[in-house]
Amino acid sequence: MRKKLIAANWKMYKNPAQTKEFFRDFIPLVAGHDRDEIVVCPPYIDLHSALELINGTQISVGAQDVYWKDEGAFTGEIAPAMLTAIGCTHVIIGHSERRQYFGETDDTVNLKLKAALEHGLTPIACVGEVLEEREAGLTEDVLRRQCMRAFSSISARKASKLVVAYEPVWAIGTGKTATPGMAADAHVLIRGEAAKAFGEAFAEALRILYGGSVKPENATALMSEEEIDGALVGGASLDPKSFAAIVKY
Ligand code: PEP
Repeated sequence: MRKKLIAANWKMYKNPAQTKEFFRDFIPLVAGHDRDEIVVCPPYIDLHSALELINGTQISVGAQDVYWKDEGAFTGEIAPAMLTAIGCTHVIIGHSERRQYFGETDDTVNLKLKAALEHGLTPIACVGEVLEEREAGLTEDVLRRQCMRAFSSISARKASKLVVAYEPVWAIGTGKTATPGMAADAHVLIRGEAAKAFGEAFAEALRILYGGSVKPENATALMSEEEIDGALVGGASLDPKSFAAIVKY
């Protein structure tokens, strides 16, 4: 049995005061809930507040991106060891918005994954096709390419903390959701790529999350699908009640 992981991606929303308000309301709503792992990924500027607030709870905190170098003249970037130094345990890598707006490529995703794993972070590596690719019947090719390149030259031993998120880009922030069946098909394919890269046993244990307009209303149907090992939630994670409802689907 793979323990499900429900992760919040706040994107560029909330300041430290709003982060405080969120956790004040959210923590009591999920008190004692340990069926699933809960991770909240706020903007960098909120990480410190979030980490203080979750102290003593079962909630973990992650970043939304990381650079692959340890230090240097890389203005605006954050190194893996900076995240671990403040108690951050998770990091989203290769989110479609990074790929779409900030020049993230399959190769930089691979570099970031290696660096995050090297530093003991749990990376949530995002893959997913855009609408034109799905409509052109290219979903499988795109997912295969993204996984193959993301997993390239990483050993199964090093990859042990890896988590993958399947996020069809046409479903992110659009209110359109992949059906549980569509998501399951993609997850089977991703698991197959993980088996090729890291072996069958690794793939069997790998958690593959679904992301794309997950809401309290559709969370149960999606999470009941055996292939879906959790969710990466954007918009609906900003409100403590709706994120708690998803966590407790
Ligand atoms: C996301 O940002 O990863 C995401 C899935 O967003 P939303 O839930 O808003 O579609």
